[in-house]
Amino acid sequence: TPVLLWLRQDLRLTDQAALLAAIEAGPVIPIYILDDDTPRQWAMGGASRWWLHHSLSRLDESLRAKGSRLILRRGKSAEILAQIAAQVGAGSVHALHHYEPWWRNAEKAVAQTLDLRLLDGGLLLPPGAVRTGGGGMYRIYTPFSRAVMTHMPPPAPRPAPDHIPAPASWPDSDSLDDWGLLPTRPDWATGFGQDWTPGEAGAQANLADFRDEAPDYATARNLPSIEGTSRLSPHLHFGEISPATVWHHVTGSDEGTKIFLKELIWRDYAHNQIVGFPTYGSANARGEFDALPWRDLREAKADFTAWQQGRTGYPIVDAGMRQLWTSGWMHNRVRMIAASFLIKHLLIDWRHGAKWFWDTLVDASYANNSVNWQWVAGSGVDANMFVRIMAPLVQSEKFDAAAYIREWVPELADLSDAHIHDPDAHGVRPRAYPAKIIGHREGRERALTAYRHAKG
Ligand code: FAD
Repeated sequence: TPVLLWLRQDLRLTDQAALLAAIEAGPVIPIYILDDDTPRQWAMGGASRWWLHHSLSRLDESLRAKGSRLILRRGKSAEILAQIAAQVGAGSVHALHHYEPWWRNAEKAVAQTLDLRLLDGGLLLPPGAVRTGGGGMYRIYTPFSRAVMTHMPPPAPRPAPDHIPAPASWPDSDSLDDWGLLPTRPDWATGFGQDWTPGEAGAQANLADFRDEAPDYATARNLPSIEGTSRLSPHLHFGEISPATVWHHVTGSDEGTKIFLKELIWRDYAHNQIVGFPTYGSANARGEFDALPWRDLREAKADFTAWQQGRTGYPIVDAGMRQLWTSGWMHNRVRMIAASFLIKHLLIDWRHGAKWFWDTLVDASYANNSVNWQWVAGSGVDANMFVRIMAPLVQSEKFDAAAYIREWVPELADLSDAHIHDPDAHGVRPRAYPAKIIGHREGRERALTAYRHAKG
């Protein structure tokens, strides 16, 4: 009897424990279900859909090269799996664990009617594998990371199978093009294709490129003007590469490599937090933030739009927001600056910013996005203090963002390194570039007053 392989954010053949287990159990029917019902408000955003289209297309090619193919269906995961299982008489469903609250609910629903076999492999360690002395989940990153390190390296990645046994007949499949995952009018994703190659081969290429540069990561990772990070985030998010594979390929004992592997552990940490606190994406992890008097979005609409469009008058923020829109990704340092600017200088609730990132990032991840936004806001379990307000102009100079600004804010391309971070202050702002929508000191004071109010 055939078995079902339920694919979600694990679109790979290498180091894919569920695929290997399925092959042991019988002829395999690989299925991807486009499910917008189960996640509800967390249905995939536009940029992720662009990625998904290309990733599924590549995965189908890889499966065909191994004698198999990808079945595409649309609807509620549990219902579709039950239908297909009944139709083909499938014995079991094989899948990797996923920790978004809606996936955990869907797994429960599937397991009520089918023999669901869940395996690990999306994280370095399954959530809860390391525990505090008292037996609880870690809430703070540093001790969590130390505990994870004692279990590293992860098991060696397992190679892709040579051949995947096919069933005697295949169930119906939708056509990928009919899903309309790619933008049409207007096509805002033309820049994505220049920067990204979704799929396993693209992931391996980014890993190979980064491997030799890892020793420089300690300083390079903070400099948006150079490509100092791995750019693996969308590949990791869609599971085109396993974190164990990344770990085993970036192996130096130098400082840069160590810091890089700690960042990879942040990804595990974030997924642990959404298991402990499933509403991390919509509720403040620290209750006192519920009393923070955010500006009403109707009143702050013009400011929010200026932020989204990269027209705040703060070149580093604007460069980041335009990089996000054009390429579906933003440098980590700039994500922190842009998020902090929205939350503190504009006093707009972090959830509005997180939602925009959710729609525009190709690596949009419920765990990483929610945990990082709450980290910046100060409302997270382990977070930066709200009163530590990043000064965007100082950050821009300190991390040498001039070339980055020239790339993404062409109106400022002719300004010198000395002037480009703050053209207003030097009286050299070109007319095409907006004035600051709020002064740094004014924004800072308003944020601190709001915070004092929340603290009572
Ligand atoms: P590298 O520096 O090469 O790091 C390697 C990998 O480690 C990344 O691919 C990622 O999987 C993981 N990682 C690195 N930093 C973090 C971090 N701070 N938290 C969790 N994992 C991390 N990352 C996402 O993957 N999805 C998101 O939706 C997301 N939203 C963010 C929102 C904000 C406001 C901020 C400040 C950060 C966010 N991040 C998110 C984290 C981080 O910015 C990206 O993971 C990183 O920029 C991706 O680039 P890279 O692959 O070159 O990273």
